[in-house]
Amino acid sequence: MASGSTVEKHPTSDEFNPFLSMQKGFDTAADHLGLEGGVRDVLSMPDRELTVNVPVLMDDGTVQVFTGHRVQHNTLRGPSKGGIRYSPDVNLDEVRALAAWMTWKCSVVNVPFGGGKGGVICDPRKMSTGEKERLTRRYTAAIMDILGPDRDVPAPDMNTNEQTMAWLMDTFSMHERKTTTAVVTGKPLSIGGSRGRREATGRGVMSTANEARKMIGLRPEDTRVVVQGSGNVGGLGAMLLHREGYKITSISDMYGVLVNERGLDMPAVLHHLEQNRTLEGYAEGEYHTDGEAQLEMDCELLVPAATENQITSDNVDRIKAKLIVEGANGPTTAIASASLSDRGVTVVPDILANAGGVTVSYFEWVQDRMGYFWTEEIVNSRLEQIMVQAFSEVRQTSEKYGVDLRTGAYVYRMRGLFS
Ligand code: NAD
Repeated sequence: MASGSTVEKHPTSDEFNPFLSMQKGFDTAADHLGLEGGVRDVLSMPDRELTVNVPVLMDDGTVQVFTGHRVQHNTLRGPSKGGIRYSPDVNLDEVRALAAWMTWKCSVVNVPFGGGKGGVICDPRKMSTGEKERLTRRYTAAIMDILGPDRDVPAPDMNTNEQTMAWLMDTFSMHERKTTTAVVTGKPLSIGGSRGRREATGRGVMSTANEARKMIGLRPEDTRVVVQGSGNVGGLGAMLLHREGYKITSISDMYGVLVNERGLDMPAVLHHLEQNRTLEGYAEGEYHTDGEAQLEMDCELLVPAATENQITSDNVDRIKAKLIVEGANGPTTAIASASLSDRGVTVVPDILANAGGVTVSYFEWVQDRMGYFWTEEIVNSRLEQIMVQAFSEVRQTSEKYGVDLRTGAYVYRMRGLFS
């Protein structure tokens, strides 16, 4: 599908600013709808931003100050919802962009949340478990005035997990003097988590990949898949695609790339990764450290599931996949997105492809508030139903407006919000 885009190819630093990228996607859709200026302004600026500097006692007895952000982009449809990431690269523009994408994402799958996001500038690889716990508790205490089941509900993101959410929930509950499970999602099952949450984002990637490959006439057994990232989204997404009969020819992490043209045995790869904390040394595949080359490998389906700004004006012309399913948030810059669209490459955009996570987070929040927990079968079937429905509606909108799926996803929701 062509968008008729005419964005010029000039790699600039702006290309890598995720907030500007997000605004580009938004503006393109707003132009198609003729959305008026005031409404555009409301949606392009976050409702609220909070920056905190929190002191943390380190294992060596020193005190270190960490900077964290929490951004609430829009709460028109309900409490803000969005992950918290720990990374040295966290910055306010990135958190703003991720918060805005959450507004669109919640809207695409029609769950009653607005968009939020948080991040702390730190290097979790260099921190002990105790240091991470103390950081999480101080950060939570510093932002908790704007958190709550009816205000803002965090979840895990890069380098945070079920344990981080448990610390957050416990800290919030201690201050509130009552157990408040619905203040976060992505918690362990034992303290109010939902069955199926851990693999929900990967499951949504699998469902939307299935719908998209049917749309372009591919069979799973003829579909070679390259997956960038082997964490929650990439690893579990690859596992579920493998189970559906797709051939995973490559998977990577931030250190290196594993390749097997005959297809990787994903359960064995993930077991190796769990045991060794690296893809290196896995016997049934070749390992190399050229991460950039991985995205350009011959394949039918590319799943960028690591981080943003991976498909850019620098490499977009060498991308060979005919289908891209964006597991990560913002993996394709606006310039690269326009170029892929012009070339007729089908891209299932992040705000649809990785919305499985927030959908099951919504299920978790509902279950916590009801105090009644569902079986994994019910969670998975309700998730599948929502993902297939969202894909179909986005597809219909994109066909109606003659635009690509990304613009279709934005247009679909803006119509819902403002018409
Ligand atoms: P994670 O920390 O579990 O895994 C990230 C993976 O990406 C790791 O394997 C890491 O080594 C790898 N990685 C990081 N930088 C890389 C690089 N430059 N090249 C290759 N690999 C690299 O994180 P996650 O939860 O899987 O999140 C991944 C992406 O998906 C992020 O963009 C996140 O915002 C998005 N996302 C996550 C969820 C969720 O439920 N976890 C939901 C929606 C979107």
